[in-house]
Amino acid sequence: MEEIRKVARACFQRGSSEKKELEDIGKVARAYFERSSSEEKTSARVFFGELDDNGDGKISVQEFESVTSSSHVKDLFKNLDENGDGILDFNEVLAFYYMEKTGVPGCGSCKELLLGPYFSCATCLGKGSESYDLCCDCYSGGEYSHEHSLDNFMDTRAQLKLLRDLMKNAEITPGQVII
Ligand SMILES: [Zn+2]
Ligand SMILES: [Zn+2]
Repeated sequence: MEEIRKVARACFQRGSSEKKELEDIGKVARAYFERSSSEEKTSARVFFGELDDNGDGKISVQEFESVTSSSHVKDLFKNLDENGDGILDFNEVLAFYYMEKTGVPGCGSCKELLLGPYFSCATCLGKGSESYDLCCDCYSGGEYSHEHSLDNFMDTRAQLKLLRDLMKNAEITPGQVII
């Protein structure tokens, strides 16, 4: 549950564009879920069950808060609650599950949670060392301190293109790459 606290804290610092970004993550997460194996589906349900204390199939603010006493949790809850009915159903929790599973990077400079497009240092990626990422504002403002220059950075789409090229050459199957 440490990851949940981390995500909650970072979401709090992020402000209002977060709702839209979480909706987008929710779309991806639900699409993944639809296509996932029964094992993966079970693990998503177990995750939901851990949050659903009284087992009524819905997550209340109280249940969500019991994961962490942090005051930031209310904002995250509100932003995950897409239809605004005051509870989180399984579909709404999937966005959160997906973030937990894949890990949400933070900007190396301002520490903002990177839910939308962002830039990564390709040199660090290529070396297999820990990734260094920047939000669009810090990238364009050049506000960062990192050993590699901004020329080394690629945005999310460029990374995807690179991955496509690599996979084509190395004949990697998607299952080897994703999560
Ligand atoms: Zn930043
Ligand atoms: Zn680097």
